[in-house]
Amino acid sequence: MSKKLWLLILINCNFILANQNFGVVVHGGAGVLSNLSKEQQLVIEQKVSETILSAYEILQKGGSSLDAVEFVVSEFEDSLLFNAGRGSVYTSDETQEMDASIMYGFDRSAGAVASIKKIKNPIKLARKVLEETEHVILVGDGAESFAESIGETIVEPSYFHSEKNLKRLRKLKSKIADSQTIQDKIGTVGAVAIDKKGNISAATSTGGMTNKMPGRVGDTPIIGSGTWAQNQVCGVSSTGHGEFFIKFQVAKEVCTRMEYLNQSLQDSSHAVIKELKDIGASGGLIAIDKDANVSMPFNTEGMIRGSLTNVSDLNVSIY
Ligand code: ASP
Repeated sequence: MSKKLWLLILINCNFILANQNFGVVVHGGAGVLSNLSKEQQLVIEQKVSETILSAYEILQKGGSSLDAVEFVVSEFEDSLLFNAGRGSVYTSDETQEMDASIMYGFDRSAGAVASIKKIKNPIKLARKVLEETEHVILVGDGAESFAESIGETIVEPSYFHSEKNLKRLRKLKSKIADSQTIQDKIGTVGAVAIDKKGNISAATSTGGMTNKMPGRVGDTPIIGSGTWAQNQVCGVSSTGHGEFFIKFQVAKEVCTRMEYLNQSLQDSSHAVIKELKDIGASGGLIAIDKDANVSMPFNTEGMIRGSLTNVSDLNVSIY
């Protein structure tokens, strides 16, 4: 039986549970946000709110958490407001290289792509890796050939061009950057959801960090660092200084503490983010547990974030 068919059966073979809470939590990156104007804040909040409401509708109609998180992340990838897909930041060579991953907590199936340059929606390709290959991560040319072979949308590099992001790179390189600006520090996107069947999914996508070395891969496509989903425990999407998030396996660490130390989602996620701060690692995460409790800790000045569940109201904030 093909992997795709098996997955379809898995997705459709479990049932809506009578008292299952459901909902979605999203982020648009953590960092220093003090230079955001009121108008910029409103535009971001509006985009985040609309996207959450649409994702919630998918879940409310009995849709899969995998569809909900892919929807959120691809919406954000299409927007210039975030450092993912179209709004990706530049490497030190003035190129753009994107990373993304997605995970389904029912059976821990996962798909990821790294260092890709011409795929319109990296998260959609990551899902195809999950569903249509025997692998978890595809990188660079191989990932792009796979994308071509399955008809994924390919775009010219100019699609990702942004004067703003290029200026920021050049300023940063010449060390006259005002690091208190939005794109220097934030913009990675992510979503975590639990559906009416109790299935948890998580997805994350990024252009990485401005001025990164070409070929550098951060935490975003690393399962257990940038993304984790485990039914009956929790799902997590991270954002921050990727090298630390890899070394501390941040996304999985939150779930591991819940599983083995019996900690609540709040306690576990806040402790992990505090420990990162103590070693000088900046960032944050979003998480949801099996009862649709939500947590959104960060150790930076702000993190674009929001959530909506059947037991809690729409909540969108930046600071
Ligand atoms: N974690 C991302 C990376 O290191 C960047 C971010 O979340 O802002 O590539």
